[in-house]
Amino acid sequence: MTDQPSVTATASATAAAKELDWRRGAACAHLSERSVFARLPAEAEPVLHACGRCPIRKQCEAVVDPSHTWFDGVSGGRLWRNGREVTR
Ligand code: SF4
Repeated sequence: MTDQPSVTATASATAAAKELDWRRGAACAHLSERSVFARLPAEAEPVLHACGRCPIRKQCEAVVDPSHTWFDGVSGGRLWRNGREVTR
């Protein structure tokens, strides 16, 4: 038996690290969870503003997939409640 990590484990760790790397670019990373997972437009406003300059906006909505996960909060520049867009 060897102490070396398996090729599969190393590949998984590399893939996980890459995923975390692009998430670090989120413009809302410094904002409160209360704003990110807001249910009301007024609470979501700081994150919605950040979305306008977010470099990972498309990935955010693709990963969260709000309409299929009944998501509550902000994703991809829009506020969602129970997977439906909240319009202001
Ligand atoms: S697009 Fe997503 S990751 Fe970017 S600021 Fe908006 S909620 Fe955050």
